Amino acid sequence: MTAQLNLVVLGKQGAGKGTQSQRLGEHYGLAHISTGDILRAAVQAGTPLGREVKSVLDSGRLVTDDLVNKLVEERLKEPDAVKGCVLDGFPRTIGQAEALEKLLGENGVKLCISIDLPDELVLERLSARRVCQECATTYQDTDVAAISGTCELCGGDVVQRSDDQPEAIKKRLENFERDTVPLLTFYESRGLLVAVDGNQSIDEVTASIEAVLHARGLT
Ligand code: AMP
Repeated sequence: MTAQLNLVVLGKQGAGKGTQSQRLGEHYGLAHISTGDILRAAVQAGTPLGREVKSVLDSGRLVTDDLVNKLVEERLKEPDAVKGCVLDGFPRTIGQAEALEKLLGENGVKLCISIDLPDELVLERLSARRVCQECATTYQDTDVAAISGTCELCGGDVVQRSDDQPEAIKKRLENFERDTVPLLTFYESRGLLVAVDGNQSIDEVTASIEAVLHARGLT
């Protein structure tokens, strides 16, 4: 089973992690695992997990390593992860990266893709971001679905995420510096890190990532 393609996508919020991870998952038949989407769905559904993490998510802080590690462990057991996975928003800390190495065992992470974007562009993008509460499709504030408040794909409510408010964005950028930047070193030291410029069109970013995967003989 060493043929599994397990990818980690890192980047600040708004860099396009979610969009690119979803595309990679569809293109290569891999499970797209977004810990943020899983946690938000739990909050939305009002499950015990959702009630536990709601205030943490609203504030832009991180939930505990133990909690997300367990979520990912369970998610990796689902059948769509048999060929591998695209991890989006996980790992966020060295503790989570180490837990992931144990979870994946000999299959391991094949590549860590860092989608780079300056803070000014993060703020600009996130302030304009709207998201479907049901299927997590993202829109711009000027899109018809954002103005009408109804998702074009599933009819769900399209809203601004509570953590896309300026204070929470600031907090999340601080989290990124503190917790996620060390992860770049973690994957770099294993020869697994590639950086992709996030300040391009969505299609251009996808093409850049696919070119790297191909050049590395992973696809
Ligand atoms: P995201 O959609 O990836 O920006 O995640 C939204 C929020 O979910 C974060 O601000 C955290 O509160 C929580 N979260 C998502 N993934 C993780 C993770 N790997 N570790 C800790 N907290 C997380």
